[in-house]
Formats: sequence, C-alpha cells, structure tokens
Amino acid sequence: MTRWPLRQVAFVGFGLIGSSLARVMREQQLVERITAASRSSQTLALARQLGLIDIGYADPADAVRGADLVILAMPVNATESILRAIKPALSAQAVITDVGSTKGNVVAAAEAVWGEVPPTFVPGHPIAGSEQSGVLAGRANLFAGHKVILTPLPTTQAEALALVTSLWQRAQADVLTMSVERHDSVLARTSHLPHLLAFSLVDTLARESNNLDIFRYAAGGFRDFTRIAGSDPTMWHDIFLANRDAVLEALDGFESGTRLLRQAITTGDSEALLGIFTRARVAREHFTHMLAGTAYAKPMTAEKDLTYTVQPGGRMNGRIRVPGDKSISHRSIMLGSIAEGITEVTGFLEGEDALATLQAFRDMGVVIEGPERGRVRVHGVGLHGLKPAPGPLYVGNSGTSMRLLSGILSAQPFDTVMTGDASLTKRPMERIAKPLRLMGADIQTTGERGTPPVSVHGASTAAKGGLKGIHYDMPVASAQVKSGVLLAGLWADGETSVTEPAPTRDHTERMLKGFGYEVKVQGATASLRGGGKLTATKIDVPSDISSAAFFLVAASIAPNSDLTLEHVGINPTRVGVINILKAMGGNLEVFNEREIGGEPVADIRVRSAQLKGINIPEDQVPLAIDEFPALFIAAACAEGTTVLTGAEELRVKESDRIQVMADGLAILGISAEPTPDGIVIQGGQLGSGEVVSHGDHRIAMSFAMAGLRANGPIVIRDCANVATSFPDFLGLAKRCGLAISASE
Ligand code: NAP
Repeated sequence: MTRWPLRQVAFVGFGLIGSSLARVMREQQLVERITAASRSSQTLALARQLGLIDIGYADPADAVRGADLVILAMPVNATESILRAIKPALSAQAVITDVGSTKGNVVAAAEAVWGEVPPTFVPGHPIAGSEQSGVLAGRANLFAGHKVILTPLPTTQAEALALVTSLWQRAQADVLTMSVERHDSVLARTSHLPHLLAFSLVDTLARESNNLDIFRYAAGGFRDFTRIAGSDPTMWHDIFLANRDAVLEALDGFESGTRLLRQAITTGDSEALLGIFTRARVAREHFTHMLAGTAYAKPMTAEKDLTYTVQPGGRMNGRIRVPGDKSISHRSIMLGSIAEGITEVTGFLEGEDALATLQAFRDMGVVIEGPERGRVRVHGVGLHGLKPAPGPLYVGNSGTSMRLLSGILSAQPFDTVMTGDASLTKRPMERIAKPLRLMGADIQTTGERGTPPVSVHGASTAAKGGLKGIHYDMPVASAQVKSGVLLAGLWADGETSVTEPAPTRDHTERMLKGFGYEVKVQGATASLRGGGKLTATKIDVPSDISSAAFFLVAASIAPNSDLTLEHVGINPTRVGVINILKAMGGNLEVFNEREIGGEPVADIRVRSAQLKGINIPEDQVPLAIDEFPALFIAAACAEGTTVLTGAEELRVKESDRIQVMADGLAILGISAEPTPDGIVIQGGQLGSGEVVSHGDHRIAMSFAMAGLRANGPIVIRDCANVATSFPDFLGLAKRCGLAISASE
C-alpha cells in the first residue's frame, strides 16, 4: 500500500498538466514538499505565489534531488535531455513517471540514457487536458472521471506502479494499463489524427484567397471540428514527430477513407455515401453509449438497475397503439438485407433486440437508413452480397437474432462469431445448431452446455460445396428453429422442409412470400427450395400482440375499464392470449380485421370482466408462449384455479418464467404452484410487496399490471430490460391509467 504523504515530489515542467497534478496533491496534502524545474523564472514565481510549489529551480537536477517521486510534465521531445540532466541527482529509490502524450519515444529516451528502462520508471499518459497551457490554466479536477493510461514494462517494479496508480486515483482518474505499442497506436487514431486534421483544415482554409469570408460565415460544424486546432503548436509538433510511424499509419487509413468518399461523390454513388454515413453515425452512437456505459435504447438501459413502483388501483381507458411487432421487425431487416432492392419499413420496433439485428447486418456491410420514428430503409445486397463483419456480431439480449442469424450465417462463405449479453449467454443454442449441422453447416456452440458464443465456419462449409436441403422434424415446437432452418434453406441445394410438432409463429414463411419467395405450407410442414431470390418490398409492421397482451390483461382485470388497442397483429399463430382470455370470460372484441403485407391485423376493444380459472388447452400454449407471464396475472385475479401444462419452454426464456412468476406471485400472497411443465394458480387477492423480474422484460411488465388489482403498492426490481421490447411502456401505461413510476 502506498503511504501518503510523500516527503518530496519534483516536477520537471510545470504547465497545465504538471500544475493540475500539484493542485491535487496540495488539496489532499499528499506531499510535504513540492519542487519544480522550469526554464522560465516567471512560471516558477507564479507557481510559488499560487502556493503550488515550495521551491523552483532552473536546473532540473536541483529540483529532483532528494525527491521520492519525479514527474516529467514537459513536452515529450525534451525527455532524453532532461533524463540525462537529472540522472546523477536522482536517489536510488526515486520513482519516475511522465505524462507525455506518446510513450514509445519516452521509453526509448530512458533506454538511451540508462541502457534499459529503470524498474522505477512508470510511463503514463492522462487522457485529459485542454487547448490552454501554462501554470494558470491548471485545475485540480482536470483528471476527474478521465482515463489515465499507464504503460509499465515487464521489468517495472510493482511498488512503483502502485504509487503512480494511487496518485492518479487520488486525482479521481480511471487508471488502466496497456503496452507502449498499443498506447501509441490507439492514441494515433483517437487523438493525434483528429488534431492533425483540425490543424490541416484550418491552415488550408486560411490560405485560400477568400479566407475572411469563409471564416466569417463558418457554421457551428466548423467551430466544433476545429476547436482542437487551438492547441499548443510546440506540443503537437513534438507529438507527431515522436509518434511518427503510428500517426502515418493512421493517416494512411484515413486517406483511403477519403478516397472512397471522393470516388462516391465523383460517380454519384449514393448508396456508398449513405453506407459510410449511416455506419459512421451508428458507430459514433455505439461508442458514445459504450463510453457512457449505457445500452442502445434510451432512457431505460440494460446497464442500470431500474425499479418500478406501482400504486394500487386504477382503470384502463382510451385508444392506444403499442409498438411494432418484434418478430416482424427482426425479419424485415433480415429479409430486406438479403433481398434485391430497397425495402421500406414503417412501424419498426426501435427496441434493443431489433436494433441488435439491424446492427448485425450493418456490420455485414448492408446500408440501412434509420430508424427514424419507426421508418427504416434497407438497401438489400441480395443473397450473395453479405460481407464478413469486422469482429464478432454482438446481438445483446436477442435470442431471435442469434437463432435466425445462425441459419443465415451457416450459408455465408465466411466465418462469424456471435456473442450476446449475460442472459443470452445462458440460453440453449444447440437446438438450432443441430439441424444446421445436418444440412452440412460447420457451427459450434462454444459456451458451456450448448450456449453462446456461437461460432459459424461458413468458409469450410462453402469449401465442401455448401449446404444441402434436408427434411427436419422439430423435436420441440420453436419458431426460431424453424425460421433458422428455412432461412439456411434459401442457400441450400434442393428442398428444405421443417415439420413442427405444434403450431409456431409463421412470420418467416409469410414474409418470405411477401418478398416474392415461394414457400409451401402443407399442414405442419413448411418447405422451400434454395437458389431463388428475394425482391425488396414495403413492410408496415403491425403492433406486437405480445406487447398488447399486458394491456389486454390489464383492462380485463381492472374494474370499469374500456380500452381499444389499434392495428394489432393477429397472426393465427399468435392469438393464444386472445383465445385464452376469452375462455376465461374476458370481454374482448376483435374488429376492423384487415391484411397488411401478408399479416392479418385488427383493432381490439377490451372491457373489464370477472375472469374465471380454466385448464389452459395445450393447443393454445405455443400460440401464447410469450404472453404467459401476463396471463398468470389474469389467473391470479380470476375466480378459481388456472392450470397450465405443456409449457416447459417457459423455463428457458429470458428467465425461468415459471419459477420467477411463481416466486413473485407468492410474495404478493397468491398461491402459485410450479410444475415441471407449467403452473397451478389459485385466484385470490393480490397484496403488496417487492418482486424481482430477473432482468426479464415480460415479467416486469406483467407485475406492473398486477398493481391494478393489488391492495397496496408493488415494487418491481430489475426492470431496465423493458426497453428491449417496449421502449415507451411507462408512458403508455400511465396514459391509460396505471399509477406507475420508475427510479434508478
Ligand atoms: P504546458 O502547459 O505548455 O507546460 C509545459 C511545461 O513544460 C512548461 O512548464 C514549460 O515551461 C516546460 N517546458 C517546455 N519545453 C521544455 C523543455 N524543452 N525543457 C524543459 N521544460 C520545458 O504543457 P502541458 O499541457 O502541461 O503538457 C505537458 C506534457 O503533458 C506534454 O508532454 C504533453 O504531451 C502532455 N499532455 C498534455 C495534454 C494536454 O491536453 N495539454 C494532455 C495529456 C498529456 P518552460 O517553457 O517555462 O520551461
């Protein structure tokens, strides 16, 4: 452990960075005596007046004599001469560190002076600063919340590293370590190149003959982009020369980027331009979110813990439109991407799961504009136009993305790895990998017990002649597995068919037909032949019946309710929740039925009703699989007993939905007995209490609706994932009459 305070700290160079660090030390009394060397007596006089140093010297050797810690805070190019000058005066145990913006040349300077870098030397670089310089510009909070990169060598002493780390932590910086080479290469791209461009742009424009006009009319973009051209010329001169190779490499990369843009502009290639701009915009958002530690969708984020509190009572009234169907949103991007032409999507669900699919296809080179208030334009690349992604595809929490993409990726002539968040990483992927292997795919589930990451070796499959059509009898009813196999079948030799043991969602089959691809459906078997093509189309995504389900249940259980849900997708494979609620005595009216893009759509009016417990018919289970958490709340409010069987699938959803719902209902005073493949729920009076959703969005929304019939407040923890399927759940629920609030 580092023991503060030290006896003496010496600075060589005492400008913005050095004096800021001295301010931290003074404020926290980390040192008894501070000495400094500077070429200017004025700097030293000012530093003394400000109380930042005890004594200043012109000769760096005098400043470091007797110091426990020496901090080099002058321009990097002076490092070698300074080290030579201070070497004879340094005490043997003195720890030396620096703050230079490049590290390779600082380490080289130390090697030149000592033959090898002393073990007490800890190279460092605070990623903080400003365009101002000098002792007056310094401030104690300059480093707070910023990163400091230390680049220790294998020979660096652990105690020396600990001391320097502790110092920066005292300055409230985030300390991380990396190799010297990596530091210089990363910084060349993220810091040095942008400065070079800003200097160059301002200089180039300033030299043009009408420069006064240009600057007079300069817009905000110019000001933002060129702010850093106000930085200290000497310092940057040093940095570019010091980090020459990495900067030149970064500049080469940038120049090839601008050449692509130039060519696209010259030839009027709008697709290439849009591709670059949309990718850049998304990448920037992605990095901004990453840096801020948040997920894609705002304001609810998967990173933070979000708690809902629902006050008891209320009724549900009005006309609402819930967000677009998640399954259809996913498929619109997937099929749009592999179709020929531009697919226009409206009503797209901007939840994290569908956004993960969108990002995956962008990563594979597809130009996708939007989403902008539910509108997306997908510039299809055809069945053979996907490109390898630059790295693993990250699909967040989305099982649909991972399973359907497994099918598509198995047929690509390149290798891909798919990863997801902690919850997805626990979900079974062998069920899709197995049939794909039967088709000749080289696909591995590399997690423990057949779970993600999923590694797809498309190249080796292609080398062996590609996929072959198969007939697959699905052991477990799963729309995702059926879809994954059928999608792989688009590229397979011959016919691919899938028979399902029970009806599952048929969005893929319907949408393939919408894209002009022939799919035969006979009884429980869907089949298609590989080698055709998909033609771009328009898709108006219906509202998601899974999101509507919470409101169907809510208006049924809350007294005096009368709620109409507009434009709801009523695909026959999804209407289990309507059928089950009706069987329980629910007052639901489905009207204004129409067909949009191959999918049936209707408005649904729900009024309160006294529900009664039923034995849920097993043939309805696959048609309502995602709606059971909401239906369990209906069962809790019903008269009598509700029994669910044949729903073991619920145990491997985003959470073990049977157990998690049973636990929550028990806390609220309802008798709920889990069984291996279902649950037995005894209707009763919901009480108040605190339940945990285990990060499962549907559990969180279901318990929220329970508040309507509870006799006290319900607190629901871990609700951040609601954004994955229902971005404005809270707003819409409040508008209808639910007394709900959220807190972090
Ligand atoms: P600054 O405010 O200009 O201070 C530089 C200090 O170094 C002054 O005290 C200067 O004083 C002294 N100095 C200049 N040339 C020297 C030489 N040849 N020999 C000895 N001393 C010399 O600059 P700064 O922003 O603090 O930068 C210092 C270091 O921090 C640089 O290595 C820079 O790469 C690094 N850094 C800067 C930033 C930033 O945003 N500014 C961020 C991270 C890291 P005299 O001229 O009086 O000697």
